[in-house]
Amino acid sequence: MRVIVAKGSGFCFGVKRALKIVEKALAKRKGPFYSLGPLIHNPQVVERLSRKGLKVINNLTGIKEGAFVIRSHGLPITTIELAKERGLKIIDTTCPYVKRAQERAKELEARGYQLVIVGDRGHPEVKSMASEKSIVLQRPSQVEKVRSYPRMGVVAQTTQSLENFKEIVKRLRSKAKELKVYATICNAVSRQQRSTRELAREADLVLVVGGRNSANTKRLFQISKGLTKAHHIEKASEIDKRWLRDKEIVGISAGASTPKWLIDEVVRKVAAYGN
Ligand code: SF4
Repeated sequence: MRVIVAKGSGFCFGVKRALKIVEKALAKRKGPFYSLGPLIHNPQVVERLSRKGLKVINNLTGIKEGAFVIRSHGLPITTIELAKERGLKIIDTTCPYVKRAQERAKELEARGYQLVIVGDRGHPEVKSMASEKSIVLQRPSQVEKVRSYPRMGVVAQTTQSLENFKEIVKRLRSKAKELKVYATICNAVSRQQRSTRELAREADLVLVVGGRNSANTKRLFQISKGLTKAHHIEKASEIDKRWLRDKEIVGISAGASTPKWLIDEVVRKVAAYGN
């Protein structure tokens, strides 16, 4: 049996950077430390961080002191302002790619364009870019309901698929006299999707490793299962030996929020079962 790990699997640049910033702050022990929702979408990493002192909260109610972490995919400005008003120290780990998308969105609105964000409406990153007037589109079919504007400006949630973004932009062309487009999609995600697609074409089975709450991991699983047999797992102990029976090539892929140690454990377990 051959075990192949898809190129670029695991932590992306932004997640690595966010963890480094937070771990450095935690080491100084000037807490308490809070993050609104999990720092990254991986329960095993969140659990390790919680042992080091990072508390996950759902809102800022009752939080009056300490340090507040802005996650790599950003937060709405109103939330950041609220944290500042409460005197919390801000630890900003917003990924530079997300910052760029936020800035483009701001710039378009300031220049009088009707802002359209291609992304998932409820996602914090989209919320961090949206204003009261902006339009959020998830699917090409939603363009039909958009009215016409003289000037429209489009940005993307960084983790959007390029195909979806392109199709929405194509349909929006008939809705505006002038359409300004910023394809603010992060290459890390599209590269992972490409290498997983290539691997799934070759492998008899793909194991996709990552949090069940990670949208990016779920997408890799969708891609894989469309091409071959695939399972989404969070950790090595979930592997069922029977999955590997008669498999010649086993592919392993992992989302942008999956740490290397979890991927390595899966590789070791598969290799051990294959012998
Ligand atoms: S997926 Fe891209 S945009 Fe998101 S944190 Fe990673 S590097 Fe940054």
